[in-house]
Amino acid sequence: MCLRPEADFQRVDALAPASLQVSYRTFGDGDVPKLMKESRGLVIPAVGPPLPVSLFEGTTVKFVQVTGAGLDRLDLAYLKKQGIAVANVPGGSNSAVAEYVVTAASVLLRRFAWANGEIRAGNYREYRARVLAENLAGLDGLVAGIVGFGTIGVAVAESLYQRGCSILYYDPAPRDMQAAAKLNAHGVSLEELLQTADVVTLHLPLLESTQRLVDAKQLKQMKADAVLIQTSRGGIVDEVALADCLSTGKIAGAAVDVYSEEPPPPNHPLLALHGEAAKRLLLTPHIAGVTRQSTRLLCRKAWENVHRVLVENQAPLHNAF
Ligand code: NAD
Repeated sequence: MCLRPEADFQRVDALAPASLQVSYRTFGDGDVPKLMKESRGLVIPAVGPPLPVSLFEGTTVKFVQVTGAGLDRLDLAYLKKQGIAVANVPGGSNSAVAEYVVTAASVLLRRFAWANGEIRAGNYREYRARVLAENLAGLDGLVAGIVGFGTIGVAVAESLYQRGCSILYYDPAPRDMQAAAKLNAHGVSLEELLQTADVVTLHLPLLESTQRLVDAKQLKQMKADAVLIQTSRGGIVDEVALADCLSTGKIAGAAVDVYSEEPPPPNHPLLALHGEAAKRLLLTPHIAGVTRQSTRLLCRKAWENVHRVLVENQAPLHNAF
């Protein structure tokens, strides 16, 4: 069973192989519990509400494939205990997220979106004079701080390095020391990273230990002219504290792609910002990793793995356990 519409796969020319018989459903469909007792594998998108453990009670499903990187929709400890294998597709959105981070950093630092609004409001001359007077920096020569130096974090670091940034990272268990050496990237404490970086970008998973890792105390350690880019998972940044820092001008800007509740409710603290605080904020709807290219790659790799497990009876690639 696949809890992602077939159209998603058709659109990017990444249909399931003919060797698999697939039922496409959405999570709330009435026959999903019945199909969980008839299916051998479950395919789910990485983004969406958590899947309750009750879904897996009495199931015949022995393998769950996520069509993306994040595994936070699943209760991994429970699935492991039940002997249900779980796999993701790492790296498929590296290029899309790296492009997002470089673009968002430029948009914020050089205030492209803000300028667009000022021109439309009739403030061309005044706003141009203000940009010149404030001596805004581009990326070249700035310090980029990568929090979570894993698959995506390294790809983002490479892109920022190519734009002339020097790289700091914070990660309690970095895996790719060769990439760090190639980029002359230095591992530092979270505190040092926040105090030093001009661009702080988050690429770590949502775990119990990473909930609100960036809260009021951390945000206040950032430089006043620094920007924060949040494409990891909602819940890692304290959104009330971030809204507060933007409205008091404690940081220069933020790009937010992921939210503790998706979609964010109308009274969300970031949506409530107005005036200059709102102009310092770039909001996107969880699409940092979504491009035609990344979706095609992720979907094809996901089906290849399902075929490998269910048809070829081999162990999954990228097994979470
Ligand atoms: P990954 O597992 O390869 O890397 C994550 C890194 O974070 C690891 O190196 C890990 O050691 C590190 N880490 C764990 N706890 C940490 C902590 N407390 N502080 C700092 N680092 C910590 O994962 P990935 O493929 O690079 O993906 C990272 C995350 O990006 C995913 O979990 C997902 O939530 C998110 N993501 C978002 C989008 C999007 O569209 N916005 C797309 C893809 C992935």
